[in-house]
Amino acid sequence: MLINPVMGIDLGTTNSAVCLWQDGKAVLIPNKWGEILTPSVVGLDEQDNLIIGRPARERLQTHPSLTQGSFKRYMGTEALLTLGSRQFRAEELSALLLRQLKEDAEHWLGQPLSQAIITVPAYFNDVQRRAVKNAARLAGLEALRLLNEPTAASLAFGLLDNREQKYLTFDLGGGTFDVSIIDMFEGVVEVRASSGDVRLGGDDFSQAIVQWMLSQQPELKTAQATLAAQLLAKAEIMKQTLSHASEAKASLEWNGRQWNWTLTEEQLTACCQPLLARLQRPVQQALHDARFSLQDLDHIVLVGGATRMPLVRQTVARLFGRFPRHDLNPDEAVALGAGVQAGMVMADAAVEDIILTDVMPFSLGIEVVKRHGNQVEPGFFLPLIERNTFLPVSKNETLNTVSDNQTCVLLKIYQGEGRRVQDNVFLGEMSIDVPPRAAGEMSIDVRFTYTLDGLLEVECRYDGSPTVARTVIEKVPGQMSEEQIAASLRKLTDIKQHPRDRQENRELLARCSRLYERLLGDERAWVDGLTTAFEQALESQDLRRIAAVREEAENVLRQYESGTLQ
Ligand code: AMP
Repeated sequence: MLINPVMGIDLGTTNSAVCLWQDGKAVLIPNKWGEILTPSVVGLDEQDNLIIGRPARERLQTHPSLTQGSFKRYMGTEALLTLGSRQFRAEELSALLLRQLKEDAEHWLGQPLSQAIITVPAYFNDVQRRAVKNAARLAGLEALRLLNEPTAASLAFGLLDNREQKYLTFDLGGGTFDVSIIDMFEGVVEVRASSGDVRLGGDDFSQAIVQWMLSQQPELKTAQATLAAQLLAKAEIMKQTLSHASEAKASLEWNGRQWNWTLTEEQLTACCQPLLARLQRPVQQALHDARFSLQDLDHIVLVGGATRMPLVRQTVARLFGRFPRHDLNPDEAVALGAGVQAGMVMADAAVEDIILTDVMPFSLGIEVVKRHGNQVEPGFFLPLIERNTFLPVSKNETLNTVSDNQTCVLLKIYQGEGRRVQDNVFLGEMSIDVPPRAAGEMSIDVRFTYTLDGLLEVECRYDGSPTVARTVIEKVPGQMSEEQIAASLRKLTDIKQHPRDRQENRELLARCSRLYERLLGDERAWVDGLTTAFEQALESQDLRRIAAVREEAENVLRQYESGTLQ
């Protein structure tokens, strides 16, 4: 029995994984299929039953209108994703996935879990981070901390050979690319700089292959969802084949014809060139911000499924002039790091001496006007917290009113590096009322506080005001309101799968019926009793009771079915 166990969760675009801190180390937890990776895919079957993980991934091609994958890309947006006749936000699909991960881990551990460390791409903005927290809440989990994915992987790597070193983590996942530079000394794992590209990942390489496939067979059109899904699946297989072979073939039956492709390494290199070129800039930026040169780095560490592509490895080797290390399984490194962080939160003695420091990967600021004589020009970005500042951080700035008798100041908050706000991401706005004065006479104090979770709090007060005006950002596009969360909870409970509908329970009941039909007399009555006990456990919806009765029933059934009790 673990005391106050905390789950470490890698909530990935393609796959998710769970890790627990147990007996002084991070342990990856298998799902109910005995696998460490759970595909981040959610679907419904024809009877409206939820399907999550591997069986859902298998239906992505056959039932594209009833299945959704890669929904992490839409976190923090208002995009509605369809499963049959129902519509979901990305938070809600993530919540269904998280709920499954929680249930599977509880089953494995034999005790309830209610708290988690969840990893997020370093580049996730405030809205996307809040969306992850909301997803956890909808799944019945408290997200104690959001940990940047490359930081998690770096933590796992750093502890691998636990000595002073400087390294760069190159994390190319399904949907995002993150680079982090780490300085490890005297038990401190210090993230010196983070950079990345939120719109670059292994899935883009698969899409590039789809485009190549279409260019080879111009008569094929992807307007139909089933064709697009099938092409993507073929492209994915070819991409993975080229990770260990020099040529990959694909064929597809469509419209009564067979369509064939042969993709070579050279062709793959050519069609992925624009994507490979995009790997360079974040690396350079991270090195620049950390004030490190290539020679300062002891290692380059590869993380993320897409770094399995030889093409990506070659690009990395060329960029750094040396071969990267891949001691950690790239699919598991992030979850392992989340598990280590869980141990740190649980204040376990084995990781007590480790201190992790992280940075903010982007600049945060507000819109200001510029004065040219009597003219004012709006739309300029004033960074309050600059990128790669250590966390947590709190900074303030004093601003003045621009017009005579101005009674309200509107603060528009942005994230990014652009000189003009139009080039940055709008995060939200807040307004405060101020007493009317001549232009420039009223000063306003704005304080930005950025937490370890990567969440932003903004406080604002005018000179002489007795109170702090606001502490939350309003009108954040894409953020769920409390009412929406409450409605969502009702909706998700509504499609909550009753234990009797779960596949493994249905299968067990079917096995009981088959055995009942085979047996006679006392044995038959005994199977009847066992079935009734299991049905009652299912009706109670008490997961522990169900698991206990199921285990007992499975033991007996196994013995009967193998003939040892006959
Ligand atoms: P992650 O988000 O870290 O799980 O990475 C998922 C991405 O890795 C997807 O785009 C996969 O297509 C890609 N991937 C996984 N295995 C391989 C492989 N053997 N070769 C090439 N790409 C892979």
